[in-house]
Amino acid sequence: MNARKLPSIRPAFDADAQNAAVAALRAGELVGMPTETVYGLAADATNGEAVARIYAAKGRPSFNPLIAHVADLAAAEKLVVFDPLSRRLAEAFWPGPLTLVLPKRADAGVSDLATAGLDTLAVRMPSHPAAHALLKAFGRPVAAPSANRSGHVSATTAAHVAADLGHAVSVILDAGASKVGVESTIVAATPRGLALLRAGGVPREAIEAVAGAPLEAVDLTDPEAPTAPGQLASHYAPGAAVRLGADEVRPGEALIAFGPELPRNAEAAVAMVNLSPRGDLIEAAARLFSALRELDGKAATIAVAPIPATGLGEAIADRLRRAAAPRP
Ligand code: AMP
Ligand code: MG
Repeated sequence: MNARKLPSIRPAFDADAQNAAVAALRAGELVGMPTETVYGLAADATNGEAVARIYAAKGRPSFNPLIAHVADLAAAEKLVVFDPLSRRLAEAFWPGPLTLVLPKRADAGVSDLATAGLDTLAVRMPSHPAAHALLKAFGRPVAAPSANRSGHVSATTAAHVAADLGHAVSVILDAGASKVGVESTIVAATPRGLALLRAGGVPREAIEAVAGAPLEAVDLTDPEAPTAPGQLASHYAPGAAVRLGADEVRPGEALIAFGPELPRNAEAAVAMVNLSPRGDLIEAAARLFSALRELDGKAATIAVAPIPATGLGEAIADRLRRAAAPRP
């Protein structure tokens, strides 16, 4: 992607514009996608480097799981396992501003970075006809957080997207102002019932009426929130201990390396993954969660070589610090 290229703002329903947006997604580039809630910063959810570009563009200091957008229920069924109650909600509120967090299928093909390493996946079928057309034509799930820089308000027009993220997107599909203007409501299916993770475009009462049961409110950002372990974890953590900034490998350790230079004694590591032998942070981010998963269980401790704290390095370091933090 050429960083200096101006984004092209194109009419969302123009056939050439739709084709250009599909081509950009296929090439691993970012697209400004109108939805009924807010404009999304869209990337191919199956392409780890494309997903890494979302975080780089937004300047997010951490990786949080993203919502996979699909064209229809059949496409969602290929990604996640619906229980009867969740299917009832999908049938009642899709297409529309409801996101369901459900167990991810092993063969979903969605990048580990898009789910931030979790075994659950947030899915949604937007009702916006331009989003629907794009998703249908692309034929793969699209990861799309709101198209604004981290800490800015969500973009509800194509001009907002261009102003905030114009440098990073290839095409912005312009469909005027978003109708709903707030994010989707997020509901998770848990063994104890449905949990409301975020209030949004579909009112709680409407969901409770269809579910026939109250929604438990869960604040995933509150570390004190009384959630059962594992059920609603908002962050993946490896079982192994993680030792950061390792300039040498100690006996018995596995190694996460970065760049062409390896830490001392690297050859003694019981297993090693180099996040990016050429030192590219986009590539490193794309591989981070699969590296943690691959090495977890192979050693009691994973040593992590120093990684630059610039650009995506900040979010990578945040994730590794959380992985390294002592757990209760
Ligand atoms: P945004 O993409 O900005 O609309 O935000 C997506 C929201 O969905 C964030 O608050 C995430 O924490 C939440 N989310 C996405 N996937 C999951 C998941 N698998 N489990 C729990 N929360 C999720
Ligand atoms: Mg947002």
